[in-house]
Amino acid sequence: LRVSFTPVHRRGEGMTGSIVVLQDVTEQEKLEQSRREFVANVSHELRTPLTTIKSYVEALDDGALEEPQLAERFVGVIRDESERMIRLVTDLLHLSRLDSKQATLRKQPTDIVEMLEDVVDRFSFQFRNRGIVAKVEAEDGIGNVVIDRDQIDQLLDNLVSNAVKYTPDGGEVTLSASLSETKQMVHLTVKDTGMGIPKKDLERIFERFYRVDKARSRNMGGTGLGLSIAREIVRAHGGDIRIESEWNVGTQVTFSLPMTFEGSEASE
Ligand code: ADP
Repeated sequence: LRVSFTPVHRRGEGMTGSIVVLQDVTEQEKLEQSRREFVANVSHELRTPLTTIKSYVEALDDGALEEPQLAERFVGVIRDESERMIRLVTDLLHLSRLDSKQATLRKQPTDIVEMLEDVVDRFSFQFRNRGIVAKVEAEDGIGNVVIDRDQIDQLLDNLVSNAVKYTPDGGEVTLSASLSETKQMVHLTVKDTGMGIPKKDLERIFERFYRVDKARSRNMGGTGLGLSIAREIVRAHGGDIRIESEWNVGTQVTFSLPMTFEGSEASE
């Protein structure tokens, strides 16, 4: 709370009153605070791969270049770290477009079952490699939903990629779709039988850069932005997203989207 005090004077009479302004600055403070944290996080996330790249370049320079096998390994590390930075910057740009509402949605009627089957196809190599069984389950005749297919594909890819990352070999990933009672919303779920997320972390999991285990997420190639991007994409569609999880049992992310898009469609 910010308090400002202004005395009021009347000529010849001295102080006759005062104006006290009480301003609630908590929201503003919170926003500032999260902005500061965000910048600190971004800097840190970029600095880590850059430091690694620099030290490996120096090692090459200091003689590792003369040893082909060593040089090859070092170049590999440099490539991986550069790719991580590109992923991070791409995610940041995507988030900033979603934040500034610059990303106009290109909505089109989309066959729900086909969309889910396509996601499974995109990951079929990883599923096979890890012995993970993938399933698609949908209500009969569920039909089309009006969405920006590229954005929803990206969101589904983020969720399925997490499911694969955090599920041990031989697990199960299920994508399912059902309609709300009024048939105005579709609920889409990505469920895994993985390591799960501790209760205490659940409510912060959609925050930017929030991770249960930073080192593990980095090793897996994660940027810590996947779920925050997912939430922004869902919000842009006028929907909502929630996560349920049990430690060592599995995780289930469900997002709901309006089946049609009257309001925004008309304005296009
Ligand atoms: P990351 O790039 O680290 O995966 P995300 O924003 O996608 O970032 O996810 C944030 C964190 O949430 C992850 O680091 C991980 O700790 C946790 N998480 C997300 N999805 C799952 C899942 N399906 N199972 C277990 N943990 C998960």
